[in-house]
Amino acid sequence: MTSPDRYVDPEVIIAGAGPVGLTLAHELGSRGVHCALVEPRLHADLASPRCKQLNPKSMEAYRRLGVAHAIRNNAGLPFGWSDSAVFCTSLTGHTIERFDGVFALSDVQRDDLAEPGQWCAQNRLEETLRNTVTGQPTVSTWWGWSLAGVEQDETGVTAVVAGADGERRRVRGAYLVGADGSRSQVRREVGIRLAGRSHEVRNVQAIFTAPGLAEAHPQGRAVQYWVLNSEVNGLMGMLDTEGTWWAIIIDAPADLDEQSALDAIHTMIGDSHPIQIRSLDPWQARMLVADRYRHGRCFLAGDAAHQNPPWGGFGANTGIGDAVDLGWKLAAALHGWAGPGLLDSYEYERRPVAQRAIAEAAHNMRVLTGELARPELVDDGEAGTRARIRSAEAIREAKTAELYTLGFVLGSGYPNSPLITSTDPAPLEPALLDPAPLETSTYRPSGAPGSRLPHQWLNRQRSLYDVLGPGFTLLEIAAPPASEWEQAAAKRNIPFERLRLNRPDWHSHFGGRYVLVRPDRHVAWRGDEPPLDVGAVLDKACGGSTVSSSTTV
Ligand SMILES: Cc1cc2nc3c(=O)[nH]c(=O)nc-3n(C[C@H](O)[C@H](O)[C@H](O)COP(=O)(O)OP(=O)(O)OC[C@H]3O[C@@H](n4cnc5c(N)ncnc54)[C@H](O)[C@@H]3O)c2cc1C
Repeated sequence: MTSPDRYVDPEVIIAGAGPVGLTLAHELGSRGVHCALVEPRLHADLASPRCKQLNPKSMEAYRRLGVAHAIRNNAGLPFGWSDSAVFCTSLTGHTIERFDGVFALSDVQRDDLAEPGQWCAQNRLEETLRNTVTGQPTVSTWWGWSLAGVEQDETGVTAVVAGADGERRRVRGAYLVGADGSRSQVRREVGIRLAGRSHEVRNVQAIFTAPGLAEAHPQGRAVQYWVLNSEVNGLMGMLDTEGTWWAIIIDAPADLDEQSALDAIHTMIGDSHPIQIRSLDPWQARMLVADRYRHGRCFLAGDAAHQNPPWGGFGANTGIGDAVDLGWKLAAALHGWAGPGLLDSYEYERRPVAQRAIAEAAHNMRVLTGELARPELVDDGEAGTRARIRSAEAIREAKTAELYTLGFVLGSGYPNSPLITSTDPAPLEPALLDPAPLETSTYRPSGAPGSRLPHQWLNRQRSLYDVLGPGFTLLEIAAPPASEWEQAAAKRNIPFERLRLNRPDWHSHFGGRYVLVRPDRHVAWRGDEPPLDVGAVLDKACGGSTVSSSTTV
């Protein structure tokens, strides 16, 4: 149990150092906000690394925070190790279908991404983020401590934290964020409820070691091997190049013990390759979202606020997006440039993304290996070949939207946010429910207000994102300087920069000669001419006016 040597009253208390709490600590730390990170686990452990796929939007956030390289270096599977998913009758059996380019994991540079995705076990992500957060002078880490109680008043929040030995301390901050996972204590303390449903099917994730297995099967490299087998239902893959594997046994028997798990994994492999089980982690798919993301000075983020089935890999990634959104807004509130509506906009912006993640993942869950498996797939003759061709068609139909998700990942913006000034007549987003596969898979860059800023490379290594400021940035794309923005931002203490890009060929890419970019790389406003009232656009982007009308620019 460790508590910070040099104690400084934090401005933000973060309960939970999973992927979301750790990302938020980096966001706040990088913005000079003092925070206390309270976490009962002394170390990131290998017992159950649930998350494995980090999507490009999360990796772009980590690039901005300066930790993308460290994450890739400690990922277990090197950057670009594989961008394939294979469907087979067993690891040593027939290949039915192979997809390449899944989850944008390829290390081949693409115009629309500053960072591709990364396959990285959750414990390795947490380990890296723990190491890098320790160097942040404004973050104090409370490893071995749990949040046990919350009291709030008009000026702040007091968290009661408990050590493993029963010692209790009171920590006072201006805000508290519950990033303490699906059973969130913070959520219970402030009386926020989850609405939705759980799937009745019980599943188990097994972590096991299988030295030499990677070289002993004919399927080639892939991040996921989906096994279509009439005996066992599931998928598997590698966590590192040293022989650590994961397997998900879908619809596992309630009494699954180590021996039955071993038998199931051997059936998935298709032979008795020696393996050793390290952990068995039962889980059920949940489709839940909090009725509110905020209660006074307390906020929820990540699994504490929403939970979706894992199909598509949206859980941690959506939570990381919460941390990015909430991070700059809390910093603005603490540094005095947040308007009265800025903190409430967190829920307006992030809750629809969680709802869409739930809808996407539930859609993907409708067809899993059990629905696709047929006894004739293992047939070595003509009948088997025909069955596998038919099956490949069904797999493509059912799984394309799950394996190619950039349309959702990068296309999810905040078109209805109260913070954006829209000059576009049409709605930007497809309907939230019953997503069509193509909208999920195909990303069409858009500079419309609310969208993620379309990416551009400035040269082979340097991304446009690398030269944006930490606050708001006005892109002047082959347009006359618009210095009136600077004065308006200075009056409001808004961190602001102008960036001249003499690229007339980029007008159509961004849809305007001026683009106002928020600290989280989303577009707040765009136009061919500066707006009549620059101050009004800035006020709106920051949640309302912070200056009296007599001084408004
Ligand atoms: C099988 C499976 C596979 C998945 N794969 C993916 C994937 O590929 N990609 C993806 O994005 N998501 C995936 N997910 C989902 C992902 O694991 C979760 O969404 C993610 O872990 C949520 O992160 P979090 O930080 O919100 O919560 P958690 O990871 O649950 O972290 C919460 C933290 O809070 C701490 N805590 C608990 N109580 C307290 C307290 N009282 N005080 C202080 N701290 C406390 C915990 O110790 C923990 O460290 C998967 C889930 C499953 C089940």
